[in-house]
Amino acid sequence: MTFKELNLSAPLLRAVQEAGYETPSPIQAAAIPPVLAGRDLMGCAQTGTGKTAAFALPMLDRLTANAPRRKGAVRALILTPTRELALQIGESFEAYGKYLKLRSTVIFGGVGQAPQVEALKKGVDILIACPGRLNDLIGQGFIDLSALEIFVLDEADRMLDMGFVHDVKKVIAKLPAQRQNLMFSATMPAEIEQLAAGILHDPAFVKV
Ligand code: AMP
Repeated sequence: MTFKELNLSAPLLRAVQEAGYETPSPIQAAAIPPVLAGRDLMGCAQTGTGKTAAFALPMLDRLTANAPRRKGAVRALILTPTRELALQIGESFEAYGKYLKLRSTVIFGGVGQAPQVEALKKGVDILIACPGRLNDLIGQGFIDLSALEIFVLDEADRMLDMGFVHDVKKVIAKLPAQRQNLMFSATMPAEIEQLAAGILHDPAFVKV
C-alpha cells in the first residue's frame, strides 16, 4: 500500500513525502478511504499510531475538493483534551497542508485569549481546540460553528476521564446536524460506545 494508492491529491502526497513518510501506517491505510468517501468513522487507536494523519490527510483533501458552506466560516473542528495534543495536531495540519490554501489555528486555555481571537478574526478553516476555551470563545461570540462540515473528537476516552463530557456535548449542540463525524479513542468502554452512538451515523470502524 502506498499513499498514492489512497487517492490523496498531489499537494498532499508531496507534503507527506516531504514529511519523510514512505508507507501509510495501518490506521492510515484503513481510515483514509472511508473518510475520503465522506463516511463517519470510529477509530480505536492510541497516539503514536499515525492517527493524526489518518484524519488530517483525508480532511484536508475533502475541504479542498468541496466548496465551503459559507464563505469565511469555520469548516472543520478538532476537539482534543490537552494543550500539547492541540499544538501537535496544529503542527500536523500545517505540515500536511503546506501546499494548500486552508488556514488553521489552535485554541486552548491557560494563556491569554487575545492572540487566539486575533487569529479567529482573520478567518479560520480548521480549528483545533480544547473544549473549555472553545466554549468560552463561543460564549463571547468569537466563533460560529453553524457552517461546520467536519467534526473530530480526538482522544474521547481521555476527554471523559478529564471531565470534559459536558463541555463536549455543549460544543456538539452548536454544530449543524448534517456533518461528517470522526471519533478516536484508545479504549472503548461503555461510556464511549454511548457517546459514539449519539455522534456517529453509520460509522466505519477501524481498530489498530
Ligand atoms: P500520531 O499517532 O498521529 O501522534 O503520530 C505519531 C508519529 O508518527 C508522528 O511523529 C508522525 O509524524 C509519525 N507518522 C505518522 N504517519 C507516519 C507514516 N506513515 N510513516 C512514518 N511516520 C509517520
